[in-house]
Amino acid sequence: MSKLVYDFREGGKERADLLGGKGANLAEMTRMGLPVPPGFVITTEACRAYLATGAEPAALADQVSAALHELERRMSRKLGQVDDPLLVAVRSGARFSMPGMMNTVLNIGLTDASVLGLAERTGDERLAWDSYRRLLAMFGDTVLGVDSAHFDRALDQAKTARGARGDLDLTAADLCTLVDRFKEIVRDHTGHEFPQDPYEQLKLATRAVFESWNTERARVYRQRERIPDDLGTAVTVCAMVFGNLGNESGTGVAFTRDPATGRPGVYGDYLPNAQGEDVVAGIRNTLPLQALATLHPGPYAELRRIMQTLEAHYRDLCDIEFTIERGTLWMLQTRVGKRSAAAAFRIAAELARDGLINEDEALRRVNGEQLTHLTFPRFAESPTAEPIAIGVAASPGAAVGKAVFDSGTAVRLAQAGEAVILVRGETNPDDLNGMIHARGVLTSRGGKTSHAAVVARGLGRTCVCGADQLTVDGHARLFTAPGGFVVTEGDVISIDGSTGAVYPGEVPVIPSPVVDYFEGRLTPDDSIDDVDTRELVHAVHQLITHADRRRRLGVRANADTREDAARARRFGAEGIGLCRTEHMFLGPRRTLIERLILANDDAERDVALAALLTPQREDFTAILTEMDGLPVTIRLLDPPLHEFLPDLTTLSVRVARAEAAGEQDEDDQRLLRAVSRLHEQNPMLGLRGVRLGLVIPGLYATQVRALAEATAARIADGGHPEPEIMIPLVGATRELEIAREQANRILDDVAAETGIDLPHLIGTMIELPRAALTAGDIAGVADFFSFGTNDLTQTTWGMSRDDAEASFIPQYREQGILPVSPFDTVDREGVGRLIALAAQEGRATRPDLQLGVCGEHGGDPESIHFFHQIGLDYISCSPYRIPVARLEAGRAAITHDNENPTG
Ligand code: ADP
Ligand code: MG
Ligand code: MG
Repeated sequence: MSKLVYDFREGGKERADLLGGKGANLAEMTRMGLPVPPGFVITTEACRAYLATGAEPAALADQVSAALHELERRMSRKLGQVDDPLLVAVRSGARFSMPGMMNTVLNIGLTDASVLGLAERTGDERLAWDSYRRLLAMFGDTVLGVDSAHFDRALDQAKTARGARGDLDLTAADLCTLVDRFKEIVRDHTGHEFPQDPYEQLKLATRAVFESWNTERARVYRQRERIPDDLGTAVTVCAMVFGNLGNESGTGVAFTRDPATGRPGVYGDYLPNAQGEDVVAGIRNTLPLQALATLHPGPYAELRRIMQTLEAHYRDLCDIEFTIERGTLWMLQTRVGKRSAAAAFRIAAELARDGLINEDEALRRVNGEQLTHLTFPRFAESPTAEPIAIGVAASPGAAVGKAVFDSGTAVRLAQAGEAVILVRGETNPDDLNGMIHARGVLTSRGGKTSHAAVVARGLGRTCVCGADQLTVDGHARLFTAPGGFVVTEGDVISIDGSTGAVYPGEVPVIPSPVVDYFEGRLTPDDSIDDVDTRELVHAVHQLITHADRRRRLGVRANADTREDAARARRFGAEGIGLCRTEHMFLGPRRTLIERLILANDDAERDVALAALLTPQREDFTAILTEMDGLPVTIRLLDPPLHEFLPDLTTLSVRVARAEAAGEQDEDDQRLLRAVSRLHEQNPMLGLRGVRLGLVIPGLYATQVRALAEATAARIADGGHPEPEIMIPLVGATRELEIAREQANRILDDVAAETGIDLPHLIGTMIELPRAALTAGDIAGVADFFSFGTNDLTQTTWGMSRDDAEASFIPQYREQGILPVSPFDTVDREGVGRLIALAAQEGRATRPDLQLGVCGEHGGDPESIHFFHQIGLDYISCSPYRIPVARLEAGRAAITHDNENPTG
């Protein structure tokens, strides 16, 4: 027969699977000799059995009886004993703390008879009736399913009747009357009397905890947090202690460090003469924890000592719930506490410095998402302005700008150099352009997964959504805040995407000190006045340095310009993994490609190519200079050529208009013929990548020449260029072979012309399933592979990224078909399998084959761990993601290589 009930003295924190987090930690504190009221835990296994069969497992009743007897023996009274009742709290607690589970029921064991006994024994009638009314409301709501609003209303009525301001003004007699009223409410809504048998109360409460595992809210939360549905919850039964026994008693919460900044110290709230959730429920103003120092110096000193003990024991920030009963301190809960991103870094770094954990463990306790968070600008502390509304903090950051009410205006003002905030009831796909141009987005409807929120996070725009206190009138171009405050178009507002606050006017914004650190404007040795900032910079430095020490993956940048290359290098990039040459032909240089396309004969084409050569060589020289001594992967032209030409419809209209007006524009007509000729049904799958290089004579040759000449020039100047030529969209070995022969010819020519040996690699992107499947063969002619995971995902799934993300991926996620977008996190089972296969077969052909990733997945933490696990050499991502990539590559190494066990 399995053991379904554990006394607190039998468990410990290693049993959280069985006892739930709350039960396991109460057992741990008991084991440590801390003052925990006695109690026991009914296991998650019992819950699972109940949920599977719809009935308590046969052995449970006996085991609970035995545990209860033991508890009664220790407390020298029986549950609900009429003259001196033992009371218990029944509390839910799963492996992972999660909202939606059953709320705690306190004071189980009180009945019409035992309430009198309690009054007698404690000499405190008020305590007895206060406790009973709490039991009725909590039990009524959570166990019997009576809407808590009924109890709240009755409580309010009782206060009004008495002219009482708070619950403390109610006398024992008032509370006694209230108890009658509560019992009536229970009777009216359930058709039954409130159970007067204490054992029945306990049994019903236990069952209600089991059942709360499957409430709608709990399910939704688990799905979102990817918590398995079959864990079940434990039930903790704990002897009651009383914080509502007059002013010598009270209840509170405490943190061993500030969960916002990580600062060591005493943080928390205390409420005298109160029970349970009163502290967080905001029914009365709480006192800061420090107030205990004068109120109850003894218990306060003990609490501080316990806080230190717990932090040393758990080697982490702990949060604590406690109660003081007539001067005696009782510990009612502890756990490793939640914290902000800044606090996570600071605490991990400080604990490592203090030797409580080793550096690997410190690195394990932070993550890339938190680091991203730390790079957003924020509002300077204590904004003088009061928020006019608080919405959902949907996408972090601080944004200040003029309120605008439609996408077009946002674009227009932004292009004129104005900072704008797009304000909408809610956004739709037509607002995309406005969102791109705005500093921030504010909506009055929709939650964290609304269109505005999702798109803003994708764009890295600050977003506050669902600020429903605001009435947005798009036609009148204004919104109204509570109290009639009106903001019209052009008024400046400030929004805080980390708190959801909306401010009128301009709140000063400061750049993130973490960005200053990575930019090299701030070093950990600088004297920084603000302690929190100094400690944060120090912590980030300490942890990223350790990540660099531990990571095996190289980190390169996707950079197309000299500026990006320089920034990437400052951020710690070890080269460029993807330099997209098409970006060099946008803007005014577009005509260079246009001329190439429009060339009528070889002579015209050669002129066009010659015009391409010089600017391209200059670009390459600049980038090779910035990245001197580091590898630079240059991808030859990839997109279909018509992307450089005007839009077919626009051009047709222009030509038709001109003709109607009797004018003839030779150039436009020629252009139109070219655009029509190059028009493709499916450009993504058309004439692009290596196909361009093979079909358009001289195009790739010119690019390779530009690179070869730039390389020679750099060497002549004493530099150390390391160019890598990357051929895109190869599907057949022969394609690469031809492109490679061509490139080698040019490299030889330039070497002969300049008399300089040109170091270089020639490789390919693997971005088609066929390339992955034939990688063993392709590797015969490639020095390196770089996985183009964006295109590989598109071609493997047969979906275009832009179309899919804009239309059906959100629904697919809602329906659980896709847990995350495969464009955000690499799809291990499909795309990932192709990558692993190509890596393995490529290396089988050529053991020194260099393997990298240049898709955006290179900056995604989960994908980085995968790339580490399959043994790639480097990842490449946008310059701003470099710090995250470094951190996560280090975390991947300590997580998956298991070289250095936790200290
Ligand atoms: P939650 O999971 O919401 O934190 P808890 O089970 O911790 O719920 O209970 C909430 C509060 O109820 C605790 O913070 C504490 O103040 C009070 N409480 C829980 N158990 C007891 C007890 N045995 N005696 C007195 N108060 C208790
Ligand atoms: Mg709690
Ligand atoms: Mg591609």
